[in-house]
Amino acid sequence: MTKTVVNQALKQHERKTVRFSDKAGYERYQKHLLMDHVVLPEAASQRERFEAVARSLRDLLTERWLHTQQTHDKENPKRVYYLSMEFLIGRTLTNNIINLGVEDYVREELQADPHQDWTEVVETEPDAGLGNGGLGRLAACFIESLATLQIPAMGYGLRYEYGIFRQVIENGFQIEQPDHWLAQPDPWEVAQPRQTVQIPVGCQFELHDGVLQAKPGLGTHLLGVPYDRPVVGYGGQTINTLRLWGAATPDHFDFGEFSSGDFVGAIVDRILAETVTRVLYPDDSTRAGQALRFVQEYFLVCCSLADIVARFQRTNDDWQLLPQKVAIQLNDTHPAMAVAELMRILLDDAELGWDETWDLTVRTLAYTNHTLLPEALEKWPVRFFELVCPRSLEIIHEINRRFLADVQQRYPDDDQRASRLSLVEEGGEQQIRMANLAIVGTHSTNGVAKIHSDLLRTRVVSEFAEMFPERFNNKTNGVTPRRWLLAANRDFASLITESIGDRWIADLSELRHLMPLAEDATFRQRFLETKQTAKKRFASWLESTAGQQVNPETIFDSQIKRIHEYKRQLLNILHVIVLYNRLRENLSLAIPPRTFFFAGKAAPAYRLAKLIVKLINNVGRVIDEDPATAGRIKVAFVPNYNVSVAERLIPASDVSEQISTAGYEASGTGNMKFMMNGALTIGTRDGATIEMAEEAGEENFFLFGLTAEQVAESRSYYNPRWHYDNDPETRAALDLIFNDHFSRDEPGIFTPIRESLMDRGDYFMHLADLTSYAEAQQKLGELYADPDAWARKAIINVACSGRFSSDRTIAEYAAEIWDAEPCPVT
Ligand SMILES: *Cc1c(COP(=O)(O)O)cnc(C)c1O
Repeated sequence: MTKTVVNQALKQHERKTVRFSDKAGYERYQKHLLMDHVVLPEAASQRERFEAVARSLRDLLTERWLHTQQTHDKENPKRVYYLSMEFLIGRTLTNNIINLGVEDYVREELQADPHQDWTEVVETEPDAGLGNGGLGRLAACFIESLATLQIPAMGYGLRYEYGIFRQVIENGFQIEQPDHWLAQPDPWEVAQPRQTVQIPVGCQFELHDGVLQAKPGLGTHLLGVPYDRPVVGYGGQTINTLRLWGAATPDHFDFGEFSSGDFVGAIVDRILAETVTRVLYPDDSTRAGQALRFVQEYFLVCCSLADIVARFQRTNDDWQLLPQKVAIQLNDTHPAMAVAELMRILLDDAELGWDETWDLTVRTLAYTNHTLLPEALEKWPVRFFELVCPRSLEIIHEINRRFLADVQQRYPDDDQRASRLSLVEEGGEQQIRMANLAIVGTHSTNGVAKIHSDLLRTRVVSEFAEMFPERFNNKTNGVTPRRWLLAANRDFASLITESIGDRWIADLSELRHLMPLAEDATFRQRFLETKQTAKKRFASWLESTAGQQVNPETIFDSQIKRIHEYKRQLLNILHVIVLYNRLRENLSLAIPPRTFFFAGKAAPAYRLAKLIVKLINNVGRVIDEDPATAGRIKVAFVPNYNVSVAERLIPASDVSEQISTAGYEASGTGNMKFMMNGALTIGTRDGATIEMAEEAGEENFFLFGLTAEQVAESRSYYNPRWHYDNDPETRAALDLIFNDHFSRDEPGIFTPIRESLMDRGDYFMHLADLTSYAEAQQKLGELYADPDAWARKAIINVACSGRFSSDRTIAEYAAEIWDAEPCPVT
C-alpha cells in the first residue's frame, strides 16, 4: 500500500541540517573537565576527558532537544512509542557527532586539548549493552531512524545496571563476567526524578537461597524513575528521547506500615525491590521464565503506560482521541501485558465501558513477532499474575472469556480449536500465552521478513490469521546506515560519497547509483583498497586487544552472532574440519588462504552452545599447531561480541556467513550490515537473506542448502546417520571430533555434540546441508581468486542494499501500522 507515503517520508531528508555551534566550545570542555571531576586538566584521565567531551556535546544539543519536545507539545501530532525490554545501543559518542553534523566543531574546539588521546577517549566509553542481540539492536536502529525521519517518537526500556555479560575465553571455554557499565557516570543520561511514577505491586519480595521471590500478602509500591537519553536524528533536526526506567522504592517505604519496628527488614525490602532493574536476562531466543523477569516486564509496561497516558492527557481531553494520537509498538511479547494495563487504565481510572475500552486498546497497540522457535514463545504462570498484578489477571480472563465466546460462535463445537486459541493454557500449571494475548489485543501483528511473516501466518499462528486476516503483515527489518556504514566504515563511506554524492546517508536507495561503477576498473580497485585497509586495521586492533594474530592477506570470513544451534556455527566449523582434512591429505592442494572469524555469546545456561564455543576454540588451536594447515586456514574466535566489535569486524570482512537452518532465522540484521559494507554472503534461503538475494540477484550470492519447505518436508524421514555412513568427508570430519582429535587432554568432552548430531536426530539438519555448503564454499574460493570478478559482485551487493535501511522499515511502520507522520522541528 501507500508507497507514496513511504517515499514522502524518505524524502524528508531534503531539508537543511541544523547548525550547532558554540564559539566557546573549548572553554566549555575545560570547565567540565575541571569542575565535574575536580581535577587539573593536565592530570585528567582519558575517561574524564571523554566525559567532558560528551557533556559538552550534550550541552550543545540540549536546546534542540527541548525545542523538539516543545514543538511536539505545541503541534500535538500522533506520537509513536516503542516498548522494548532491550536496547542494544553500543557507544554513543561518534554517532552523536555525526548525526549532529559537528565534526568540524569537535575538531576545532573539543579536540584542542593537548593531553587528549582521541582514540582512547572514544574507547573509554563502554558499550551500552542493554540487549542480547538482534531484537535489541533493532530497537536501537529504529529509534535512530524515527528521529532521522522526524517522527515524534519515544523509546521505552529498562535501565539495567548490568548489561549483557562480558565474555572472556579461558582454555577455550566461555566465562561470563558482570558488565557494570554504569560503574562510572553515564554522561548521556539525564535523571528526571520529578517524573517518577508509582507502580502498585501485589506482593512483597523475599530472598530465598539468593533468589528473589514474591510473597503474597500486603501490596506495596515500586517507583519508576525515568532516565532520558537524547536520540539524535541525522541532520540534528529532531532529537527524540529514549526513556529508561530505573526501579526505586519510596522514601517512606512501608517503614510504619508492615515493618513496624523492623528498620533493618524495611531496608532489606527496599534493596530487594531495587533489584528489579539490576540486570538484563542474558537469554536470546529462549525464554528466561523466572519471576524477576516477569516483574521486569510488568514494571516496564506500567511505568511506560502511566507516562504515555499522562502525556496524552496534557494535550487531549477526549479518550476517543487515544488511537489518533498514540501508537504503541510492542517489541515481541515481552511488553504484551500492555494490553491488560491499558485496559485497566481506561476501565478503572478513566471509567469507560468495556466495549469502548477494548476498541481503544486494540486500535492503539501493535505487536511485532520475532521468532518461530516454539521455546521462545512466552508463557507466564497465572500464579505470577495473582501475586504481582491480580487486576491484570482479572482483565485477561475477561478478554479471554469474550474472545472464546467469539471463537465458539465462529467455530461451534470445535473445542480443540478453542483450547489452542485460548489465552490460558490448561493442563498442568495454568499459564498465560503472551503471543495469543498480543495478537488478540492489538490491531497489527507483523513478522520481520517476508518468509517469517508467511510462516507465521500459515504455520505458527494460522488459526489466528484465519480469524484476523487483516491484522497480519510484514515489515522486513533494516539497520541504520549512519552507524553501520557511515560511522563504521569511514573510508568506504567517503569513496561512496565521492562517487555518487552524500544523499545515500539519509536515503539509502541512492546506493543504486553505484551499479554502473561495478563495471569501472578504477572504482573496483579503490573498493578493494578500502577493504584491504579495513582488514589491516582490524588485524592490528585484534592483536593489540586480544593478542591474536591474523593475516590480512587471507580471506576474512565472518560468522558473528549469538551462538545458537539454529544459527549453525557447528555447520561452519564442520566445514573448516573438512578443509583441514583435505589439506592434510593433499599438502599441495590449492585453496585460497582463509581466516574464519567467529564471535558471539552463548546464553550462560545453554550448555550445548557453550560447548560449541569450546569446539571452535579447540579446532582453532589444533589447526594452528599443525604444520599442514598453519598459515593456510585459521580459526579466530573474537571474544566478547558486541556492537563495537561488530562495527570493527564487518567493514573488514570479505565473506558473511548466514547459514541458519532454513525457516528458523526470523530476519537477521547482521546479514544486512555485511551487505552494505561490501561482503559477499554465503547463506541459506532464510530470513531477510532471501530478500537480499532477490535485490542483488542470486548470481551475486552463494546460496545453498535445503529450503524452509524442504526442511519441514524432510523432517519425518531425515536421518543424520545416512550422511555419516554415505558421505566420506562428513564421516571423517565427525570422527575427528568424536575421537578426541581436538580434545586430546579432555577426552569425551564433545560427547554431547555427538549425541545431538547422531543420537538425537540433528534437529537443525547440519549434516543434510554440509555437502552443498562445502560446494558453495568451493565456488566462493574460486571467485576470490579473481579480484576483479569478486569486486564486481561485492559492489553490486552494496548498490542493491538500499532497501535494508531501517529508514525504509520505519517509513513502512509509520504508513501502514501507526498512521504517523513526520513533525518537522523548525
Ligand atoms: C546486528 C547485531 C546482531 C544481530 O545479528 P544477526 O546476525 O542478525 O543475528 C547481534 N548482536 C550485535 C552486537 C549486532 O550488532
